[in-house]
Amino acid sequence: MEEEVYDVIIIGGGPTGLFASFYAGLRDLKVKIIDSLPQLGGQLMELYPDKYIYDIGGIPKILAKDLVANLEEQARYSNPTICLEETAMEVEKRGDFFVLTTDKTVHYSKTILLTSGVGAFQPRKLNVPGAAAYEGKSLHYKVKNIQDFKDSNVFVLGGGDSALDWSLMLEDVASKVTICHRKEQFTAHEMTVQQLQNSKVHIKTPYGIKELVGDGETIREVVIVGKDKEEERIPVDHVIVNYGNIASLGPLKQWGLEMQKNSIVVNEKMETNIEGIYAAGDVCTHGGKVKLIAVGFGEVPNAISHIKAFIDPKSRVQPMHSTSIFETVK
Ligand SMILES: Cc1cc2nc3c(=O)[nH]c(=O)nc-3n(C[C@H](O)[C@H](O)[C@H](O)COP(=O)(O)OP(=O)(O)OC[C@H]3O[C@@H](n4cnc5c(N)ncnc54)[C@H](O)[C@@H]3O)c2cc1C
Repeated sequence: MEEEVYDVIIIGGGPTGLFASFYAGLRDLKVKIIDSLPQLGGQLMELYPDKYIYDIGGIPKILAKDLVANLEEQARYSNPTICLEETAMEVEKRGDFFVLTTDKTVHYSKTILLTSGVGAFQPRKLNVPGAAAYEGKSLHYKVKNIQDFKDSNVFVLGGGDSALDWSLMLEDVASKVTICHRKEQFTAHEMTVQQLQNSKVHIKTPYGIKELVGDGETIREVVIVGKDKEEERIPVDHVIVNYGNIASLGPLKQWGLEMQKNSIVVNEKMETNIEGIYAAGDVCTHGGKVKLIAVGFGEVPNAISHIKAFIDPKSRVQPMHSTSIFETVK
């Protein structure tokens, strides 16, 4: 079957990519959004969903997660195809369209808009010999379904909100939950720390992890080390690691894009040095740019209008006012 060729593939479903999806709808473009995370919203949902944002024009104060909910509603205007948990890896120009290879499949598009922010997020891995062999079996970096841990002996690593939230959620599902943090104090919200202290969760602080003991499939025990170097062996079925994320542009750096430090250089049309590949938001730079949500929003109409003119040279770069579009065209 012939694969569909999109007008624009937006790589990155953060605030810039979501606004770009809406704007591409205004310019009648066929849109696909690809993001490596399991949810849309970029840094806002991954790093600070419950933090207020005060510096968006016209919105005096809004929670990051509420801004993302609004953006998602607006982004749906273009009826985009959304591909989550998929990381863009390679690109190749074939005739007048791009072939984009991800870690899952291949996509086709006339143009590409990079709204990839600080890059794809990866969980910070557990640095213990042999850990990789257990990944996805009894060593976990995310919890997809809490029932997977039913009646199990679960060992949670980390001291932030995710580690404490998962420990508390597992309290009544697992047979036993132990949380282990290398520092004396947890860094989670005070109320969550209080809840943990009042819960049945076993607390091991300050303890570092030294070893996973098992057969390469299933972890049977963890060896932890206290501040006086004393060792303790704890029987476990599953280990959940919550050490946060690291972000990296990774594969995008191999595309031959002109870079300045860690940012992709764009011209006044938001076009990169590769014809047909554009960028907006935190991922790109042009002179004295600052990296903020409002700046990414401002770059979107420029990028999308030039993408429209690139695909259809007869169309106007300058868009109509949105009222004209909403009240006459659609
Ligand atoms: C703690 C914190 C607080 C902040 N507070 C504010 C604030 O109050 N006001 C403000 O204006 N800004 C704030 N910022 C900055 C703001 O979050 C960024 O400017 C904004 O997120 C940039 O949006 P973006 O869409 O360009 O990129 P991002 O939000 O980084 O989104 C990029 C998306 O691209 C995806 N991606 C990357 N590479 C790939 C790939 N190869 N394949 C598939 N997907 C990929 C990522 O998974 C991510 O979802 C804050 C940042 C932090 C960390």
